[in-house]
Amino acid sequence: MWEYAPAPEAPQTARLRPSYGMFVDGEFRDGTGERLKTVNPANEEVLAEVSVAGPADVDTAVAAARRAHESVWGPMPGRERAKYLFRIARLIAERSRELAVLESLDNGKPIRESRDVDIPLASAHFFYHAGWADKLEYAGFGPAPRPLGVAGQIVPWNFPLLMAAWKLAPALAAGNTCVLKPAETTPLTALVLAEICQQAELPPGVVNVLPGEGDTGAALVTHPGIDKIAFTGSTEVGKLIQRTVAGTGKRLTLELGGKAANIIFDDAPIDQAVEGIVNGIFFNQGHVCCAGSRLLVQESVHDEVLDKLKRRLTTLRVGDPLDKNTDVGAINSAAQLARITDLAKAGEAEGAHRWSPPCALPDRGFWFPPTVFTEVSQAHRIAREEIFGPVLSVLTFRTPDEAVAKANNTPYGLSAGIWTEKGSRILWMANRLRAGVVWANTFNRFDPTSPFGGYKESGFGREGGRHGLAAYLAGADDAPRGDNR
Ligand code: NAP
Ligand code: MG
Repeated sequence: MWEYAPAPEAPQTARLRPSYGMFVDGEFRDGTGERLKTVNPANEEVLAEVSVAGPADVDTAVAAARRAHESVWGPMPGRERAKYLFRIARLIAERSRELAVLESLDNGKPIRESRDVDIPLASAHFFYHAGWADKLEYAGFGPAPRPLGVAGQIVPWNFPLLMAAWKLAPALAAGNTCVLKPAETTPLTALVLAEICQQAELPPGVVNVLPGEGDTGAALVTHPGIDKIAFTGSTEVGKLIQRTVAGTGKRLTLELGGKAANIIFDDAPIDQAVEGIVNGIFFNQGHVCCAGSRLLVQESVHDEVLDKLKRRLTTLRVGDPLDKNTDVGAINSAAQLARITDLAKAGEAEGAHRWSPPCALPDRGFWFPPTVFTEVSQAHRIAREEIFGPVLSVLTFRTPDEAVAKANNTPYGLSAGIWTEKGSRILWMANRLRAGVVWANTFNRFDPTSPFGGYKESGFGREGGRHGLAAYLAGADDAPRGDNR
């Protein structure tokens, strides 16, 4: 048996500094909040201290964004704005190795993923939206679409830089200025992105980055100087935000949780489907809103799929996120690990059968082995609640109608996957699945040109593509707003 030789990236590549300030009006400053420490979840060591924005800093940042919107960014022709976005895209690409290592250190995700997915896609989002900046008049939103003004943007910890890019790029392309709050456990790459904005000579105040905890986010949501809130995170906080902005006239988009069905028909190419199942739930430790966390297998191929899946899972390498051989990295925080552990226990207590491949977990840090539950019923908590970890719940079906009914039996509606040889069945299923994104014979594919978003408790509004621009232009979409539509 050949063993893999370790192939670690050097942590120094991240150019980590002992302390980071918040980014307001074009410069890094100390915030008035109590500083936070961000840790490496793979070994629990403190990476850096980060300045936290208090309510007074939110005021200052929103005022800077307003000034920048009225004096420079709003009036600037789209072709000029595009140049800044192109520069940011190029600088992300130039600094991609540094950003990838920093992201893996702060978040715990494997370097292979930050290197090949997070950072290139973040750059691609800026490239794509740079192309839109001078073409908004031809995008189908009327002859002279106008920006909304100042956007308050709040992102979670699972794709820290990529989520920041999803928020900033379309907002800036459409002529808005931004105040962004990264997640408490992963603020670092957003602050390097702020540095990149400086490098690109983006006018001061156009982008502001305010690290902090939930209360910094809440201060942003309630601030009267904000015209639009874009939030990605949990359904629970999303509902709170929707209640808070009700009646204020603020525009709102919510990208929330999910409990996607990945549906395998008996005519699917089983080996490819098994790769799709693995990518669907074990990519990014399952910290993915659109993860294929509910596997629906046609009864006639259940045993074959499960055998192949288990064999494949014994080859997954869990461990050091900076090692290029690693498939599954660390869980992002102790709190998230506790949630995953609780839900897995509930799965066993409710009678499902739990299985994990033999794998040694590191002694320090936050780790959870890839886990598969079989004999799961739709009533089990592990079939209903978002686990947001490397845990797959397997259910079966006999007919396409039953697959649709089970897939839609969830309060969420973010994504779904269909594996079958028949194109007609893919279209038949896709028309019936209540999910914003439906993948066919693939899973977890992302592209800046393709709109992404949910139905039901997964939120509303779309990010990416032409549809995503609508959320940042006056009168361009019919998404709900604070005045209760
Ligand atoms: P979360 O607790 O809702 O946090 C998301 C962000 O909101 C963080 O920056 C958080 O700050 C901030 N926040 C917390 N309380 C707030 C409040 N009262 N007002 C305003 N902001 C507040 O979500 P999470 O657990 O970090 O992220 C995981 C969730 O995100 C999952 O449910 C996942 O499905 C969802 N997600 C959805 C998408 C999508 O596109 N649909 C993409 C990725 C993730 P702190 O970091 O300080 O808590
Ligand atoms: Mg961290």
